[in-house]
Amino acid sequence: MNDREILDKYYEFAEQGRREEGIEFLEESIKNAGDNVSAELLSHAGEDILMYTEELEKGIEYFHRAIEKEPENPDIYWSYFTDLDEITDEYPETIDDAILCLTKIIEISSKIETVNTADDENEKQYDYIDENFDKELSIARRYRDLAAIYLKIPDYKKAEECIDKTLEVLPDDEYANSIKDKIVEAIGGEPETKSELCEVKREMEQEFYFIGTKDGFAKAIQEDSPYERKICEECGGVWITLLENICVSFRGSRKGNYYEIPEHFMIDSKLKGVLEKEQITGYELKDINFVGSYGFRDDGIQEMVITGRAGHLQKLNREEFEACSTCGRITEDIDELDGVGFDINKWDGSDFFLVDNFTGIPVVTQKVKDIFEKNKIKNIKFTNIKEFV
Ligand SMILES: [Zn+2]
Repeated sequence: MNDREILDKYYEFAEQGRREEGIEFLEESIKNAGDNVSAELLSHAGEDILMYTEELEKGIEYFHRAIEKEPENPDIYWSYFTDLDEITDEYPETIDDAILCLTKIIEISSKIETVNTADDENEKQYDYIDENFDKELSIARRYRDLAAIYLKIPDYKKAEECIDKTLEVLPDDEYANSIKDKIVEAIGGEPETKSELCEVKREMEQEFYFIGTKDGFAKAIQEDSPYERKICEECGGVWITLLENICVSFRGSRKGNYYEIPEHFMIDSKLKGVLEKEQITGYELKDINFVGSYGFRDDGIQEMVITGRAGHLQKLNREEFEACSTCGRITEDIDELDGVGFDINKWDGSDFFLVDNFTGIPVVTQKVKDIFEKNKIKNIKFTNIKEFV
């Protein structure tokens, strides 16, 4: 069995609610592979043992073996760190490893000259360094994580050194400013309360993004699904309503966490977990009919029906588009756009929403973009609506 097959089988166990057996199987496979075992399998075992069992030492040992195999692989350090980050309060003895992971990620990131693109299939691909990777930003954020860890020890001097590096790049970052305030307060100064100011500023300068999928990932394809078709008598616009759950097949093997077909959006179980944990609003979930999937495993993919709403799409200068007075469809040629806005007074405040007469592309808030980036959500592309062309 190769790694892919082993992991597939492991996930099969997990999906059937037999995680314990799955982990046993994974450990058995690692044992059988002997010295040839891959860093990926070791890191996977470490991750899930730390996440789902109480066997702290065992999980850590797998990660140490993975690091020994591939000491320059940022994915291993990142997945180890995200696990440790949850437990450093309870197990302070893990803090040293958390610091090691972040320091190594910063060191590796500093050396990166070019990022992976979907095209160079032959090169070793790191998830950490995908096409969204921004060297300066990424390093600034890892210094922020490091500052938060030093604050826990506490080592105020090191925490301050790190957070100052973050603030050079992200001077208005709310989280970084709140760490800085805590440090200043702890060493006996007066906090600048810049973090509160930032919050107000962020409310006022809220950014919104259209979301879409990327090239190089598996594609969702709509299969025949019963529908009802209505035609607007005034403008001839066609409106389709599905009568049953949508039928979807998938082509390609490189998995994402988000997929789309016109007017329908789908998410996998990882993304579902993130949305739930972060209490993201503006959507409901609906089952899909998973058909003819060409080697693609159903990772609990469901349709995300977007319930959040805002007013009409507007031009960047707040002018309205010409639209049908009966159905609201935009009748003006919108091929040449230079950024758009929407009637924000009618926005219901949801994190995910659709703009009234432009329902083909979901809109999300800055908060969603930040959370997706932090959780390394794959196959999702953000376009600031002000830059939409
Ligand atoms: Zn119409």
